Amino acid sequence: AQLDTLDIIVLAALLLGTVAYFTKGTYWAVYGDPYGNSLATGNGAAKAGKSRNIIEKMEESDKNCVVFYGSQTGTAEDYASRLAKEGHSRFGLNTMVADLEDYDYDNLDKFPEDKLAVFVLATYGEGEPTDNAVEFYEFIGSEDITFSEGGTADDKPLGVLKYVAFGLGNNTYEHYNSMVRNVDKFLTKLGATRLGAAGEGDDGAGTMEEDFLAWKEPMWASVCESMGLEEREAVYEPVFEITDKPELSAEDDTVYLGEPNKNHLEGAQKGPYNANNPFIAPILESSELFNARDRNCLHMEIGINGSNLSYTTGDHIAIWPTNAGKEVDRFLNILGLGEKRHTVITVKGLDPTAKVPFPSPTTYDAVVRYHMEICAPVSRQFVSAIAQFSPNDDIKAEMVKLGSEKDYFHEKVTDRNLNLAQLLEIVSKGEPWSKIPFSLMIEGLLKIQPRYYSISSSSFVQKDKISITAVVESMHKEGAPHILKGVTTNYLLSLKQKQHGDPTPDPHGLDYAITGPRNKYDGIHVPIHVRHSNFKLPSDPSKPVIMVGPGTGVAPFRAFVQERAALAKSGQNVGKTVLFFGCRKREEDFLYQHEWAEYKEILGDNFELHTAFSRDGPQKVYVQHRMEEYGEEINKLLEQKAYFYVCGDASNMAREVNSLLGKLIAKYRNVSETKGEEIVKAMRASNQYQEDVW
Ligand code: FAD
Repeated sequence: AQLDTLDIIVLAALLLGTVAYFTKGTYWAVYGDPYGNSLATGNGAAKAGKSRNIIEKMEESDKNCVVFYGSQTGTAEDYASRLAKEGHSRFGLNTMVADLEDYDYDNLDKFPEDKLAVFVLATYGEGEPTDNAVEFYEFIGSEDITFSEGGTADDKPLGVLKYVAFGLGNNTYEHYNSMVRNVDKFLTKLGATRLGAAGEGDDGAGTMEEDFLAWKEPMWASVCESMGLEEREAVYEPVFEITDKPELSAEDDTVYLGEPNKNHLEGAQKGPYNANNPFIAPILESSELFNARDRNCLHMEIGINGSNLSYTTGDHIAIWPTNAGKEVDRFLNILGLGEKRHTVITVKGLDPTAKVPFPSPTTYDAVVRYHMEICAPVSRQFVSAIAQFSPNDDIKAEMVKLGSEKDYFHEKVTDRNLNLAQLLEIVSKGEPWSKIPFSLMIEGLLKIQPRYYSISSSSFVQKDKISITAVVESMHKEGAPHILKGVTTNYLLSLKQKQHGDPTPDPHGLDYAITGPRNKYDGIHVPIHVRHSNFKLPSDPSKPVIMVGPGTGVAPFRAFVQERAALAKSGQNVGKTVLFFGCRKREEDFLYQHEWAEYKEILGDNFELHTAFSRDGPQKVYVQHRMEEYGEEINKLLEQKAYFYVCGDASNMAREVNSLLGKLIAKYRNVSETKGEEIVKAMRASNQYQEDVW
């Protein structure tokens, strides 16, 4: 029979959907059941006695391609998974994904010539490696690197290694994509051969996904040419097997209802607490910092007593969120899983290297509520992947259109801030999508990410209590059918409301399960861990400091000033402490307005607060304006080796402050602006200029 146009469109769509699907999916890093063993003690699986030899691991599991990731927030890990999946489905590579921190690298000189290594590397903060890539980075960039066969850098010891590299960065930062650039340089210097160009994705320009897509096609062409591969027709193969366990009830004490690991399940949380093992911390106090009807900013005191967790002023705390009940319901109902939500299931990787991103046996409800990022923006590729599982052909055609037409997708999805379940609801007009394999959802959605907050208390003043200052995300775009509610901040808001005896936990009925799995978070608790940072006060308190922190960017500076006031009170010599703070209106969102006066009483003239209110007068005034006014003093303090700090909005404010500082230095030292910029650069290099931006 002849194919008519519609058939061709549908066929093309199916193919597109399948191919696209294979570019988005999650192959979790190697190893068996991390939740039963290693993660329960808070250590990576490899540290619990598993082999750290990647070559051996690849041989054992019959792999010829390893995709390493250096990831901080999960995006690099997701891209690594997508590459692994695509390499397998389209080109027949036997791929695996590997966390960089799980292996040793001194045997890379023996990496088999017929195999491929892929590096997906995010750059973090000031050009730093992500936490899981620190050791690898130090090794591969080391001046006196030595490999297992004794080869040193001069012998080009990596002559056998073929690799591919993609970096995730943000052009608003000084050291844009420096991880991938440096690793690429080191590998090349050691004799390794890169296939295709080293890709660079730019989060700052908002083009990360498009940069990735544009980079990978020519990269695959080079890989095919070099390794003699041919593209084949891709078919959907689930990564995970989901089995109903009718013999188990959700109340059974072996069933995970959101507990992050075995110790938590057994009701005895145990340290060390870290990114794999949260501490269920009490919220000791909470309050509202804004005086506005439509906006909230939370101050919370979180207790870490007895956890063995410690922090130093300038560190970050990570909050592990729970999805809003309203969105959990929407997600389960639209997938036709509403009635089955408390059915016990086990989830297993169908490939030995596929790691399930949450512990099981569990329930659909627990997986969606505690482990999946269900509210995030929708990926266009994922929409293509889902199309083939549409309830009917009309819906399929719409999904295909959304998946293949960039502008249409932006208009209908991105610009309306929809999450996946909201989109599915709209496209199918509420008809359930019962054909979508649940495995596809686990593969295609990110693991829920803890959110970081700059600690707004001083560890010198309150070592067992961490303060946070968090503005509650709530956004209604014109024409959008839903109000976008930030996952974590609204969760915190409902905890605060509960603490204050509010009978309606949230005006939008988000309905968070705030008592946690099996009531384990009862009494107002939240899962946390602490992340240490390099954003630090000078060790000598007599050194002057200048801080620029508009909005919640003031968080770490409240900690800094609190600390310096306490040091002064204890008789230490504390230097000039200058803070630039900005917000909309003095009466509305002037954070910690009354505390500054207390610190001033202690620090006297050594504390200067310069405020900028953008909506109080006819003219918008920002912190940059205040900096210009006080330019001469700033320069004078810098000449006395003042430390300069910026915190808050990465995309505009931090960049503008950086260039303004160069200009001020140029003006008051009577040097060229280029020279001014160089001075700022040198300040950054020597840690005299520090940023904590997001
Ligand atoms: P999320 O649900 O993560 O949403 C965040 C944003 O993502 C939304 O506002 C929206 O722009 C976008 N988004 C989400 N879903 C969609 C969708 N479906 N469609 C389109 N867009 C969408 N914040 C503070 O308030 N105080 C701090 O001190 C602080 N310190 C930080 C320090 C560091 C090192 C970092 C990295 C971040 C810090 N943040 C801080 C930011 C904080 O981590 C969170 O990002 C913020 O609170 C929002 O979290 P959320 O879960 O409420 O919102």
